[in-house]
Amino acid sequence: MTPEKAREIKADIAKPVRSQPFEKRRVIIDQTAKLNSNINYLVASDNKAIAVVWDANAGRPNYNHRKEHLARDGKIYVLRDGWAYKQGLITKGAGIYEDMDSFGELPFCSCRGRYLYHLDQLPDNMLTEKARKALAKP
Ligand SMILES: [Zn+2]
Repeated sequence: MTPEKAREIKADIAKPVRSQPFEKRRVIIDQTAKLNSNINYLVASDNKAIAVVWDANAGRPNYNHRKEHLARDGKIYVLRDGWAYKQGLITKGAGIYEDMDSFGELPFCSCRGRYLYHLDQLPDNMLTEKARKALAKP
């Protein structure tokens, strides 16, 4: 497919959304964000992610950020069913992701996650004694 053709198709898909009144559009975009967030979570879990960094989209202009979400910005949350937590290799970090509202779950939340897959992506203070031994860290 040529880039021109791809642009054409994207414009066609966007048209019905663009022609909606603002409030409706906002809701469709919000629903899409929720869907994306859920898909990303499933894909990451499938690919054996162990934790996720909260990205509160703090730089987004003209956006009424939730205080609680800004407080989570940059913090690392553990995935409960991730292999590293299940095997006792890492601590809870800032908490367990599944215990909180997820990215995009609350109305118009535009937070996102960056998933982590390897122990060496985590700060040392999240590794347990067992992990340190496994990695032969002093
Ligand atoms: Zn949020």
